[in-house]
Amino acid sequence: MGRGVEDQTAWFGIRLLRSIFWTYSDINFKLCQKLGSEDFLGLLLEDLKVYGSSSATNEKHRFLVISALYMLHNCAKASENRHLFRKLQVHEKILPFMRSDDMTVATVTLLILSQITYHSDRTPFHADADAVQYLLVLLASAQEDLNLCGKLEDGTFSASDVTLALGNIATNDSNILTIVQAGCIPLLARLLEIGGPYVQESVLFTLRELCRHEKTISEVSAITGITSIIEQLAESCDESTRQAASMLKLKILPDTRTFESGGRDRCPYQALCQRFKEHLQLPGSYFDESFNICYCVNCHHKRDDRLYYLRGKPAKDYALPVGWCRFALKVSSETTHIFKKWHVAFYGTTVEAVENILKYGNLPRTENTAVGSNHAREQCSQGLEPPGYHTKQVCLSATIRYAGMDVYSKPHTFIEIRTNKTYKAKVAFQVCVKPGSYKVGQKTARSSTPIDLKFSNHEIEWSARELKDVVIYGLLVKLQIT
Ligand SMILES: [Zn+2]
Repeated sequence: MGRGVEDQTAWFGIRLLRSIFWTYSDINFKLCQKLGSEDFLGLLLEDLKVYGSSSATNEKHRFLVISALYMLHNCAKASENRHLFRKLQVHEKILPFMRSDDMTVATVTLLILSQITYHSDRTPFHADADAVQYLLVLLASAQEDLNLCGKLEDGTFSASDVTLALGNIATNDSNILTIVQAGCIPLLARLLEIGGPYVQESVLFTLRELCRHEKTISEVSAITGITSIIEQLAESCDESTRQAASMLKLKILPDTRTFESGGRDRCPYQALCQRFKEHLQLPGSYFDESFNICYCVNCHHKRDDRLYYLRGKPAKDYALPVGWCRFALKVSSETTHIFKKWHVAFYGTTVEAVENILKYGNLPRTENTAVGSNHAREQCSQGLEPPGYHTKQVCLSATIRYAGMDVYSKPHTFIEIRTNKTYKAKVAFQVCVKPGSYKVGQKTARSSTPIDLKFSNHEIEWSARELKDVVIYGLLVKLQIT
């Protein structure tokens, strides 16, 4: 690109083309997914290498660097692109840009790092204090905007995007202290008051990540009124907000868990789900109790667990099924090798379908299920189906929040005999799915709001065609008192 940059006519074309890709990758998620190829990302990295992190004095060079960073940021939004970022060692290559004294360059770089940094990374990444400060300036400006969006030159970032970025880089004590010392907590506290449910959930998520350090807990507790807001949100009618607030409440308030008070480390929710499972009278030969696990908020807190994990080759994110209880299934020795190599996903189903799924080991494809199929077909007819979608598909998701929606996991009424209480019961399966065997698409079930903090609604539905590419390994149960 070197000569073109100096030639005025060629530069006009380069600038126009870059601007088009930059703008469209900002507003079109599908384009972000498509642009996520080694060739395209490699070109952007090449520009960064050529023009460097201190290009602020040359307007053309600065434009190339900033547009490359923005496009990398947009491509990293698609979780299926993130393995390419690891393969191309984007993390190492952009680190110097985080320390740039150009605010836009440093901020966008930190936002990219927040998307591609994981707790499991072997080398801890240390967030630059100035870059964190810039991010907080962006967050503060978003709070002044009616739509809670902050502007950074030609880019717009929502308050929840910036908040989640802060939570994602809180992977070690050093970063947590940098964020807290930069004055993040009062900004998040204010956002908790003025934001809607999705913004509130992102704040609660980030506060919980930051509260992994004791210093943050005292900073949060020192803010007048915040504890009562968190307690109120822990009773919210929005389930995601309620879960996130309950987890934070357990972190910052004296332990309120009840199931240890009797001295026995037994979760009452798990025991209740066990009684529901017994009520289903499923043959015990399908199950392997040694891998049972309860993902209720209390148990999740007790394990001090994270919400998201990576699994498979290439590695892909999935969300732990918080709020559900897993009854592990026996898996054959021939399939144990897939656990590290395949991706994790969830499949919502009906109580009536469970026994046959266990019997045959196969998930019914969309057209065979009574639940969801009509709706999915209706969506298909409206042109909302993911590319390559076919009505005979197994509909999966990396988050139970989607796979466990009522349209897939149909509620069943369960009356618990001992207490005579009535519950809304739901079932789903946790599965391994072979990388490359499924298509990633946008939601076909109705939802006007973002479903999961980690996954865009544009990539939340996975459809697999071949039953052999999906292996079930856990029956998930969720009970809610009615
Ligand atoms: Zn539990």
